[in-house]
Amino acid sequence: MNGHPKQDATLPFAAMPYWLGLASEDWRDCRRDSRGTPLDPILAQTLPSPAELESLPLESVDPLSESEHSPFPRLVHQYPSRILLRCTGECPMYCRHCFRRSLLAEERDFLGETAQEGVKAYLSAHPEVREVLVSGGDPLSASTAKLEGLFKKLRTGRPGILIRLCTRAPVTLPDRVDGELVAMLSRFKPLRIVIQANHPAELSPLFIEKIAMLVGAGIPVRSQTVLLRGINDSADTLEELFSGLVRSGVDPYYLFQGDLASGTAHFRVPLSRGLRIYEELRRRLSGLEIPRYAVDAPDGAGKLYLPECVTGLVDGYWLLRAPDGSIHSYPEETE
Ligand code: SF4
Repeated sequence: MNGHPKQDATLPFAAMPYWLGLASEDWRDCRRDSRGTPLDPILAQTLPSPAELESLPLESVDPLSESEHSPFPRLVHQYPSRILLRCTGECPMYCRHCFRRSLLAEERDFLGETAQEGVKAYLSAHPEVREVLVSGGDPLSASTAKLEGLFKKLRTGRPGILIRLCTRAPVTLPDRVDGELVAMLSRFKPLRIVIQANHPAELSPLFIEKIAMLVGAGIPVRSQTVLLRGINDSADTLEELFSGLVRSGVDPYYLFQGDLASGTAHFRVPLSRGLRIYEELRRRLSGLEIPRYAVDAPDGAGKLYLPECVTGLVDGYWLLRAPDGSIHSYPEETE
């Protein structure tokens, strides 16, 4: 088993001028709430807040229990049909709500040759795996040549395996998507890109242009959104985001309830309010526009769909039923 660090680590800070330019005010003297978190939705995702130093007993440095599903470091095999690789801990912009926040600093280097050989052998030995999630950190913080080398290794271990590239770079640093990268990705179909977009201000003309390059090259792009307090926790904001994504050529995929990651309580929306927001979204959005609302069970049981999995609220905990019938709990938190 790959052990996660027992103590929380400090999430690095990084942001590009492009991203900071999406904000409605200057990051150097932005307005902050009473706990020190920026009010602007772009800056709140980027600038460290004193609230991050507060860890609650119900929080964890490994909220998805990935370490319990790691046959060796940086490889997670939680679902039978797919594996996840944390190929780098680098990101063009470090999201303050990141659930892998405690791992990024210690996994900064790109996955080495020996580890890549290990993954290749693992794929050969596990024919049930149909898909590899290349994640991190942000894989697009590595060079195109490095990524290509990794993809070649994966395809040697398993010809034709589906590659899912999980990256925020089209959102946080759109210029990373250039002709060379798109040409390289085109050579590795079947390949899907999953981005993370959290606020309509992220859908800039440059973002839309880069998505058009990817989609035009036959690379489907889907998006995940994290429900974040003070950033996108209203039906109006999410309606604008999801309909804007569809117009940009991106399919909304998941809306995630916040994970119980240490130091992120100030971003979490109580599940009761999240359910009400989603109910409203279902009234307003078309089938193309609405993502699935989901929560990762804190005990490593995987992704559970909301509101379908909810069976009740007992003593401040939501009881959630997994597809195998097991019951898991998620706390109802106060605002
Ligand atoms: S880009 Fe992804 S891995 Fe990097 S900080 Fe943001 S959420 Fe975490």
